[in-house]
Amino acid sequence: MNIKSEYSLLRDAAINKPIHSITKFTTLDYPHHLASIFWFAKCNMACPYCYNPHIVQDNGNITLDEALQFLQSRQGRLDSVVLSGGECTLYPHLESFCEAIKALDYKIKIDTNGSNPQLLTRLIEKELVDYIALDYKAPKHKYETLTHYRHFERFEQSLEMLIQSHFPFEARTTLHSDLLSPLDINTIIKDLHAKGYQGSYYLQNYLHVEPTLGATKMQQNQFDLSKLTPLVPIELRNF
Ligand code: SF4
Repeated sequence: MNIKSEYSLLRDAAINKPIHSITKFTTLDYPHHLASIFWFAKCNMACPYCYNPHIVQDNGNITLDEALQFLQSRQGRLDSVVLSGGECTLYPHLESFCEAIKALDYKIKIDTNGSNPQLLTRLIEKELVDYIALDYKAPKHKYETLTHYRHFERFEQSLEMLIQSHFPFEARTTLHSDLLSPLDINTIIKDLHAKGYQGSYYLQNYLHVEPTLGATKMQQNQFDLSKLTPLVPIELRNF
């Protein structure tokens, strides 16, 4: 998908209501924090295993003002907000939205596929984000097949910027054994190592929950974790 079509996708999503829904309270998504999750509608990728097809396909329902009013009403009870989706970095007003959230004294975690390195850079430079979870969807040779998004270099630019700026972030991959092989994951690990990634690399086991965006089936084979080369620390989730 090119940049123009990404923004026409947003126009179609009724830009005044970018948020699909709000999870009012979680302790799981932003460890050691009491957070809400804002689920932004629409995405520029189409990963078959995506657990949130309704969020990716439906329009938003909630304005940014309504979301800020919600945060105002929770001051003192929550300390942070997770901006997730969908892909929140597609929204041109995200920077000013983060400024408004910061004015209410909340921490911000962003979940992103890394396709908007320019925005991520600005948010970090202006100290408008505290933590980022970056999806490393697939190695370069498989990236477009898996995500239906052809600009691996934009993800790579985000990854390199985050590493070089020493910003607190995690790289993570959703692991479906029929879509990604140990060789694919080792290619990612080698790349993270070569780029100087210092954190843990999170492997999130695919759990079969219907519906998914691409009607993904249950994993047919057990992923062989013993074939991984631990050049960076590996953390397993949901295995
Ligand atoms: S899993 Fe893929 S399609 Fe779903 S929100 Fe994330 S990047 Fe978009």
